This record gives sequence, C-alpha cells and structure tokens, in this order.
Amino acid sequence: MVKAVVIRRSDRPIEVVDIEVGAPKVGELAIRIVAAGVCHSDLSLAKAGGAGMELPVVLGHEAAGIVERVGEGVAGFGEGDHVILSPVPQCHHCRFCDSGQWTLCDSSLRAFTGKMFDGTTRMSLDGAAVTQMACIGAWSERTVVPAMSAVKIDKAMPLEQAALIGCGVVTGYGAAVNVADISRGDSVAVIGCGGTGLNAVQGARLRGAERIIAVDVIVEKLELARRFGATDTINAESSDAVAAVQDLTAGYGVDVGIDAVGTKATFAQVVAMTRRGGQCILSGMAAPDLSFSMMQFTAAGKILKGNMLGMGDFRVEFPKLVKLYQDGELMLDELITKRISLEQVNTAFEDMEAGKVARSVIDL
Ligand SMILES: [Zn+2]
Ligand SMILES: [Zn+2]
Repeated sequence: MVKAVVIRRSDRPIEVVDIEVGAPKVGELAIRIVAAGVCHSDLSLAKAGGAGMELPVVLGHEAAGIVERVGEGVAGFGEGDHVILSPVPQCHHCRFCDSGQWTLCDSSLRAFTGKMFDGTTRMSLDGAAVTQMACIGAWSERTVVPAMSAVKIDKAMPLEQAALIGCGVVTGYGAAVNVADISRGDSVAVIGCGGTGLNAVQGARLRGAERIIAVDVIVEKLELARRFGATDTINAESSDAVAAVQDLTAGYGVDVGIDAVGTKATFAQVVAMTRRGGQCILSGMAAPDLSFSMMQFTAAGKILKGNMLGMGDFRVEFPKLVKLYQDGELMLDELITKRISLEQVNTAFEDMEAGKVARSVIDL
C-alpha cells in the first residue's frame, strides 16, 4: 500500500488514501516519487472534480523520482536511475516528433485519458482501477509510468529542483527559448509571474533580451521576477499595464509578449502590448474560452503562437535544464516557496489561489 492524493467523487474534496500500485508491464517503469510540484493544472483538475477523467484519479504530473523496476522491453533505463517525469509521453517516431513538435506527439493524447497504453492503469483502490493524471499520478509515493514519460538525469541533481523542470520550468523556459523567436536586444513582456512566467522571464534573459518587463498584480511576485531577470516590473492592479509597456517601448509595444496566465483580460493585454508585427505567445490556460477581433493579426500583422509544455524534445530539454541549473545559469531554488507533505496539498492549493507562492513542492 502507498499513500496518494485522490479525487474519489467529483462532489468531494481531494483525500489522502492508501492505494495499491502494480508491477510495470511491457514498456513501463516503476518509480518511487521523491518530489512533486503543485501546478495550476492540478488545481484545475481538482476544482473540476476530475475534469471528465474517469474517477477515482490520482493527481500530480510534475515530478522527479528513482526507477525501482524496469518493465519488459524497456531500453536505456536501470534500477536506481534518477528521472524527471514528463506530463506527456514522447514516442520519437510519429509525425509530430519527426517534425520537431515533440510535445504534440501522437502518444501525448494518451496523457489526457490518464490510462496506460493498454487502456488500463497500474493503480487501484479497493480493487477498482484508479486513473493516473497525465499517465503519471505523481502525488503518490510510488507509481508506474510509460518509459516514454521518463527522462534520465544526472544523479548529482537534487530531485526537488529537478521535479519542477517537468512542467512549470520547461513550459516557461520553452515559451521564451523555443516558441518565441527572441533575438539579442529584443524587448519582451511576460504577464503572470508564477511558476511558468518566472521561467519565461529567465528564458528571455538567457536568450539575450535587453528589456524584460514583468507584469503581475502581486508585489512579491514582481520582486521575484526582478531576481529572475526582469528589467522592469508593472503592477497591473495599480496601473494600466498596456499603457505602461508602451511607455517603456517608445510607444511601440514589445517585440514579444508572453501570456503565462491565459484569461480573457490577459489575452487582450498581451495582444495590445505587443508591437505591430510582433509575436504573442499564449502559455496559460486559466480561462481559455474567448472571442477577439482578428484585426490585430491581419491589419497589424501580429503573430499568435501557442505553447504546449515548451514544445521541446524532453530527452534534450530536461538534461539541458539540469546542466543550466548546475552551471548557475538557471534559477530553480528560488522557485520553491514551500516544502510540504502529501497531507498539506489543500493548503498548497489555497496558497496558489491567493498568489502567495511560486511553487509548493511535495516531499515524499
Ligand atoms: Zn503542470
Ligand atoms: Zn511522437
């Protein structure tokens, strides 16, 4: 029996219960989770009572751990390997992987069902199958995942920091480094300075952006954004963020605007604060349904790009981000605001909604 955070019924709050985790089958790995981040997608899923996934479901998709058992037919992994888990599997042979859009891999659709490739799950509760968020179910002391959802990393890398790389870091960093085309000297605005936005800020810094404008409504987050590389900060509660960005860019707007929140209001802001012909990167999905005038894209020639998990090849991205951290180029320690136990997940959700934390990390 292992402890896990479960949604049992859509009208009931999340609970910590004992579940069973079976052995890995062909192409799978058994993992002991060491650390897991609390991400907005976990909160959204909890609030939506599983969001259409079959219940019960174990939450958690941003994590790092140690390989305990290697299933049949898996090459390249051994017991004791340290891994970062990826919220979508990457097969490396479908049309998306072949064309360099690895996070859109055909296998990634599997992650939305929370079931393994044979349509079953390895977790169970009182004999009944338990769905695993993102094919992972990381808020559990142990799990079984498809081998293509794991990436081996240097054992010297602390697993708490490594865990964050799997979703928030790779998404924000990738928004600035892979999705946006940022040239040295460009101006960049990032709306939302949580786990994703802060990494977009440091991604923009690593790409050599000259002016990096961070926008948020919480003073502490704006201060943190400065440490991550923001040259200017705007409090969107006390000032008009679009006007403030225009003031800082001679009236033009920024070359690249990144929306790390994803609401109707932030979408309107990111489009308005990006210069004519500039790039608007959508990297949040807090309230994804909206309508807008296409004139900004036709008459003003702006470019709209969507970002799914940084769009990169995780086998390359995760070790690269580990190396950047080890070289002192990528800030990860500063993202960890709180260390908690599985039982404290509800408090972590409250902190997240109050905008109090960059990331809470669950130590297992
Ligand atoms: Zn996430
Ligand atoms: Zn693929």
